[in-house]
Amino acid sequence: MDPAWNDRPPPPTEFAGIRLIRVSPTRDLVGIITSHKLTGCPTHYVHRRTQPCTGANCVHCLDGLQPRWHGYLSIRSPYSETQYVVELTSLAAGPVADYQDRHGDLRGARLHAKRSSPKPNSPVQTEVLPHDTDLRTLPNEVNMRKYLTMLWSVPSDGQNGQGNPHPGPNIRDTIHPSTPDDPPQTS
Ligand SMILES: [Zn+2]
Repeated sequence: MDPAWNDRPPPPTEFAGIRLIRVSPTRDLVGIITSHKLTGCPTHYVHRRTQPCTGANCVHCLDGLQPRWHGYLSIRSPYSETQYVVELTSLAAGPVADYQDRHGDLRGARLHAKRSSPKPNSPVQTEVLPHDTDLRTLPNEVNMRKYLTMLWSVPSDGQNGQGNPHPGPNIRDTIHPSTPDDPPQTS
């Protein structure tokens, strides 16, 4: 059998390098919103992973688990071109939805999110403020439904690559506050 020669490197996966993050208990998160609108879905936390609730015939609901709504939006680091997807609880997403309702569009606004205490699951307070952003320099928003669908379809071992015939984007479902590749955040 001949090797399947291909003299051009494959294009990067659509969402390569765009990580899903939650707000760290120890550091505020600041970013420029690249999404136009908030994307939301009821979810379940099963086997240490967030999974979407699929509504009427959801197996997790039938197991008696309560769905919890989460909101998602893409942000760009204020210091670099790196984009992230932020997951927010319904409480934390409230001010984001309010801003969207008032201004019609989130893109270019500044998100500031922080935990109310150093406990990992303490409530997140968010603030969205208009920001003097040159919208032409902002990366395109992340196609959130497509991103989340890919994220949620990654096998439950959480690894892309080995054993997975369809390696997806490099998405991790958690953020570890002390890893060196944390997104830039204010101290
Ligand atoms: Zn459900």
